[in-house]
Amino acid sequence: MKKIFILLGPPGAGKGTVGERLGEIFNLPLISTGDLLRENVKNKTDLGIKAKEFMDKGQLVPDEIVVSILLKRIKEKDCEYGFILDGFPRNINQAEILEKFVTIDKMKVIYLKADDEFLINRLSNRRICERCGTIYHLINLPPKVDGICDKCGGKLIQRDDDKEEVIRERLSIYHNLTSPLLDYYKRKKILFTVRGDGKLEDTIGKIIEIDRNNG
Ligand code: AMP
Repeated sequence: MKKIFILLGPPGAGKGTVGERLGEIFNLPLISTGDLLRENVKNKTDLGIKAKEFMDKGQLVPDEIVVSILLKRIKEKDCEYGFILDGFPRNINQAEILEKFVTIDKMKVIYLKADDEFLINRLSNRRICERCGTIYHLINLPPKVDGICDKCGGKLIQRDDDKEEVIRERLSIYHNLTSPLLDYYKRKKILFTVRGDGKLEDTIGKIIEIDRNNG
């Protein structure tokens, strides 16, 4: 049976890291609309050029752009048995569109909860390998050599939207547009809350338990 996890939570709550681990455990592809958009920006596609102006400001990219990228991706063969969504849906309209393509009984929404000060600290210290995408934290998970990826030797960079003022804008958009999804999914009885500021393995353990106890 198809299994769909939706990772919901503010920027910096660990959706990408948690999603990667869940992908390995459940053998499902992780689909991050942020990554798909950044890929389009890097390749200077028409969609990417349009999306960049919103992303640089920390604002949401218009629904029609994100939805078209997402629908194309979930039609691929590796999504046959399900997938994990990181960063989609980001508003009620996107959630309603998703339900036209996937029925609600296949979905489990995992809410990764964390407060703003924790998130600002985590995001402003986040660095990413420009070659392999490995994520570091300058204080909690620093690379062995300053500015260099432990895994592949690539250069570590800061995402443009991980600068403090853009982080604050992303958080405010999260509170205004994305957090109403918590009530939306609670009413549909598919919302499960776990801590986004704890140890990764504890969070993963909780999600496995939720999955086991909820068919
Ligand atoms: P993320 O990597 O999920 O933090 O996304 C980075 C940026 O991509 C966001 O700040 C938005 O500008 C854009 N983005 C990602 N997913 C969506 C979405 N579902 N809807 C609108 N914009 C999105």
